[in-house]
Amino acid sequence: MIFSMDLIQFQRLFNKEPKYRWGQAKKAIFQDLIQDWQEAATLPLSLREELNRKYPIGISAKTFVSEDKNTTKALFALKDGFKIETVLMRHKKKRNTVCVSSQVGCPLNCSFCATAKMGFKRDLEAWEIIEQVLFFARYLKKNKEKITNVVFMGMGEPFLNYQNVIGAIKILNDKEGFNLGARHFSISTVGIVEGIRKIAKEKLQINLAISLHAPDDKLRLKLMPINKKYPIKEILNAVDGYVNNTRRRVMFEYIMINDLNDSDTHAKSLAELMKNPLYFVNLISCNQTGIFKPSLSSRIREFKEILEKEGVIVTQRYRFGKDIKGACGQLAAEGEKK
Ligand code: SF4
Repeated sequence: MIFSMDLIQFQRLFNKEPKYRWGQAKKAIFQDLIQDWQEAATLPLSLREELNRKYPIGISAKTFVSEDKNTTKALFALKDGFKIETVLMRHKKKRNTVCVSSQVGCPLNCSFCATAKMGFKRDLEAWEIIEQVLFFARYLKKNKEKITNVVFMGMGEPFLNYQNVIGAIKILNDKEGFNLGARHFSISTVGIVEGIRKIAKEKLQINLAISLHAPDDKLRLKLMPINKKYPIKEILNAVDGYVNNTRRRVMFEYIMINDLNDSDTHAKSLAELMKNPLYFVNLISCNQTGIFKPSLSSRIREFKEILEKEGVIVTQRYRFGKDIKGACGQLAAEGEKK
């Protein structure tokens, strides 16, 4: 269960307290990762009791761990009964990435995506996003590990819930709180042009990823209906503006689907689009969520070689949590209320 503790609401409780108490409360939640106000030893007992009564901070979720133990998926029930999923991916060298959801379901209906089948229920509040991160921060604390990266690649389109997504990032970035550096956040968007333009002006050095998945509008429209509103050229114009403003690299995600978008011609057309030296491509093997099959690994290798020959920087994403349906495009908690 996510309790949706509203920082602004419970900050009010501190109005009658000396100023430093608020700092102590933030430290307790975000740095000491307490699960109950009674653990906040720096706060007076009466205040702790009042906080526990009015703003309990326990967060519970059902967890599923993959066979290789590298992926944990958490299923949260929100206070209105909707459910969302969040995934923790544990990489080598103690790198721990949390993939958070920004909406309950998604309105964009991409054909390869399980979340799309849920339809759209509602946007998540900033606190519901933060609590997904806090849940896994507490989970990792047991092994003396920390979250090193937060990516908005779970359920929903982050730029359709811009304010809450940026609000959550700013709170998690706060030096007196969770203190996760801006460069450790990534937002993945289908290419909502208004969102790309807005983020270009934020004074936040977060990473931007574009879900491209096809090198031409005709094919992309088949996979992603939103391409009708935001065709590739318009998206790239907005991304160029972002790159000019921020001088940051931008990742273009490309799901490799067998016999659909993985031919030599597709690779060459994709290379044509990737002329900006700050662009790079991330190839992702498609997960079987319905009608599509993943490209053969030999095909992915050849596709990658063609891009590299054309001077494009290419990375390949390791598939996490396939067996627990925690991989890209597989998140689909029951969106219906309990
Ligand atoms: S891929 Fe992303 S944008 Fe598309 S339907 Fe799924 S969650 Fe929404």
